[in-house]
Amino acid sequence: MARAVDVLVVGAGFAGAVLAERLAEAHGLRCLVVDRRPHAGGLAHDTLDGNGVRVPDHGPHWFRTADAAVRGYLERFATWRPVPYRIVARCDGRDWPFPPNLATYERLVGRAATVEEFERWLERQRVPCAAPRNAEEWALAHLGREFFERFCRGYTRKQWGREPRELEPEVLARVPLRLDRDERAFREPFQALPEGGFARLFERLLLHPRIEVRLGAEWRAIRAAVRARHLVWTGAVDEYFDFRHGPLPYRSLRFERETVAAERFQAVEQVNYPGDEPWTRIVEPKHVTGPRPAGVTTIVREFPRARGPGDEAYYPVPAAEARAAAERYAADAVAERGVTFAGRLGTYRYLNMDRVTAESLALAERLGPRLRAEAGR
Ligand SMILES: Cc1cc2nc3c(=O)[nH]c(=O)nc-3n(C[C@H](O)[C@H](O)[C@H](O)COP(=O)(O)OP(=O)(O)OC[C@H]3O[C@@H](n4cnc5c(N)ncnc54)[C@H](O)[C@@H]3O)c2cc1C
Repeated sequence: MARAVDVLVVGAGFAGAVLAERLAEAHGLRCLVVDRRPHAGGLAHDTLDGNGVRVPDHGPHWFRTADAAVRGYLERFATWRPVPYRIVARCDGRDWPFPPNLATYERLVGRAATVEEFERWLERQRVPCAAPRNAEEWALAHLGREFFERFCRGYTRKQWGREPRELEPEVLARVPLRLDRDERAFREPFQALPEGGFARLFERLLLHPRIEVRLGAEWRAIRAAVRARHLVWTGAVDEYFDFRHGPLPYRSLRFERETVAAERFQAVEQVNYPGDEPWTRIVEPKHVTGPRPAGVTTIVREFPRARGPGDEAYYPVPAAEARAAAERYAADAVAERGVTFAGRLGTYRYLNMDRVTAESLALAERLGPRLRAEAGR
């Protein structure tokens, strides 16, 4: 006998878990959440390693948000420890405040400077462009040549395996320029990590009498045994449609972990390497994730690469041909009855965790009443 539920949710990452929680709690729907991984949390999952350091499985996941509703929602499932994230860029034998700001300029000229001087210098560095068509044009117009060449060109090449001029402007539009000396990596008012890690947050999100979770469960393997009124798909949209328009391109990463017998390896949790090193960044999670074992630390080097067989799909490629292919799948997704596509893979977008949470909360508001009426509840 097939298992009958109101909603089958494929994927227990932020998108699937938040949707399931809302549909179950706010709309009284019975949800079955399946994930092929042995744990919930998707890419945000973290584990305590042999050193007792909590290390993210898929690269640093620095939660931050300016959305009070997202914050309020997630605070119901975890105690959040404030973390003002710090990033520096290491190149030319020095550490530079990053994202670029007045202190970065001061390091460049080797003395204190005023905002007015910094602005005048920036104007001389900038290459005006009213409508940037690619990441290089955008960066030259906003960050100026010095910061672009020093911090962005090499990093972008390594990250994407392409020249900045072959990528869409949004790639470097993520790098802010600040006129003050604010050393925080991000400006969002809420910057925090859940106590006990994301692993515990997801345990609590999914702990509900109307939610059943099956981990290590592949959708194709279980679908015949489940009768659901609606499917929420947070897996890859091309995979759902059996790659009918070809596979969507992704950039992947290889992580190299190292144990270091020292209290600290580097000054801050994330150091970016825009230079010739084969890695893009070194992350030392102990600075922020807690607990903090004495005398030992773990570092993780990140090596970007094209996605090969068996590699994780990390970053959608921000280039025109990938966008065009994704639009064909997006049209198929709209036409697919009884299925809602959500999350980073279901919509082929790079999305931060707070954005995925906000979109899932909004989606549940739209879907919930209709599905509830259909279920006769
Ligand atoms: C390297 C990296 C670093 C990042 N750092 C940050 C950061 O610092 N801050 C931030 O806010 N965001 C960050 N993000 C983004 C963050 O990872 C996403 O916002 C978040 O993972 C999106 O959740 P999701 O549920 O959409 O996707 P996922 O977390 O990928 O969840 C989808 C789930 O679906 C499951 N699934 C897929 N297909 C199937 C199937 N057929 N059957 C069963 N299960 C299936 C997968 O196993 C997966 O667990 C980062 C992303 C990357 C790639």
